[in-house]
Amino acid sequence: MLGKHNIYFLGTETYIAANRFDKQSWFSMAKYRVVFDRGACIGAAACAATFPEAWVMKDDGKPDLTGATGNSEKQELIIEESELEKHLEAAKVCPVLVIHVYNLDTGEQLI
Ligand code: SF4
Repeated sequence: MLGKHNIYFLGTETYIAANRFDKQSWFSMAKYRVVFDRGACIGAAACAATFPEAWVMKDDGKPDLTGATGNSEKQELIIEESELEKHLEAAKVCPVLVIHVYNLDTGEQLI
């Protein structure tokens, strides 16, 4: 029997089944990949000023993307739709555009 909210993971998409008013409705929550070309970063710190929870400046003058996998040259992080707007803001202020965001479901590059 389904509970009030059931979460299903299918591939890269997450579905939540919500039983409301005795009718089941489905919501799809897209996921996104943030790709940071750290090797090409010039250390301007605009990303860290815009989204300090995610971008933390390091001793080498460049930021790390919190929670990301990768190394000192390239980092990647999968994010939820709820985090998308803040990551897009940080990517847009980067003067050398080394932060990119992709829709994992469609492959579309958002920035
Ligand atoms: S804004 Fe761009 S260049 Fe500046 S630190 Fe962030 S990623 Fe590097």
